[in-house]
Amino acid sequence: MNSGATRAGATRIRRAPDGRLAVTDRWGREEVFDAVIATCQSWLLTTAIDTEEALFSQKLWMALDRTRYMQSSKTFVMVNRPFWKERDPKTGRYPLSMTLTDRLTRGTYLFDNGPDQPGVICLTYSWMSDALKMLPLPVERRVELALSALQKIYPDLNIQSHIIGDPITVSWEADPNFLGAFKGALPGHYRYNHRMYRHFMQQDLPPQERGLFLAGDDISWTPAWAEGAVQTALNAVWGVMTHLGGHTASDNPGPGDLYPEWGPIRLDD
Ligand SMILES: Cc1cc2nc3c(=O)[nH]c(=O)nc-3n(C[C@H](O)[C@H](O)[C@H](O)COP(=O)(O)OP(=O)(O)OC[C@H]3O[C@@H](n4cnc5c(N)ncnc54)[C@H](O)[C@@H]3O)c2cc1C
Repeated sequence: MNSGATRAGATRIRRAPDGRLAVTDRWGREEVFDAVIATCQSWLLTTAIDTEEALFSQKLWMALDRTRYMQSSKTFVMVNRPFWKERDPKTGRYPLSMTLTDRLTRGTYLFDNGPDQPGVICLTYSWMSDALKMLPLPVERRVELALSALQKIYPDLNIQSHIIGDPITVSWEADPNFLGAFKGALPGHYRYNHRMYRHFMQQDLPPQERGLFLAGDDISWTPAWAEGAVQTALNAVWGVMTHLGGHTASDNPGPGDLYPEWGPIRLDD
């Protein structure tokens, strides 16, 4: 018996004639499962994945569609060594530190792999408007802009002279498998968060809406932190177990058993 689905590039989810769930992958291969957990950003359920309408209620579709994602961008360069750990002979100070600024780099982070080993600098980690400044630009221009901003903060430092290899950049909102970095709920979105989060409690749903579970960063109450995504995974596992007729040991209750007591407060929809 199949009790879950891990498909590379799912493109379609529908109710199979036998009542189970059919998942089609990017190669057109369809397989049928008793339960499915979808962990991608919820917008993908209406874009990359052709999800059968009847699998969710209208209220849940509204929540999934109105979920709002934040933009985010990072640009990395590899450097010959962690030169930031060496003291400046003139000042006795470190030449470069982790740098938070209101210039366009916003956050610069330093990663070393031991002395004299190549290191990595995340030149810029930005969100929202600052990420949009980078969005249309190729990686080389992003590096130029970031170095130019850092040059104003560290006028005596030549970061360029340490760079080796090709830079790497990511804009999560430009990735068709993400469409945004992480959920950034807006005022009024509590109800949508609540609908998505509690969906693993499927006992009271009509049969046509059962069996497809949601988990991951945007189902969580603490998006942008892995811990919240893991909590939703545990919820989904409990949901699948219950869907398949199982239950937890009485002395070790699961998240659904304790949901009425510990679950988030339900406000008016
Ligand atoms: C820029 C950034 C910074 C972050 N910083 C931190 C941090 O400092 N600390 C922290 O705790 N957390 C951080 N997070 C959050 C953390 O990365 C997430 O909470 C965690 O990765 C969520 O795990 P997930 O399994 O829900 O989703 P993901 O890890 O996003 O996995 C979802 C997967 O689904 C795949 N997918 C998409 N479409 C399909 C499809 N059609 N078929 C099959 N697969 C598909 C995607 O390719 C992806 O691999 C950060 C996230 C971002 C974007």
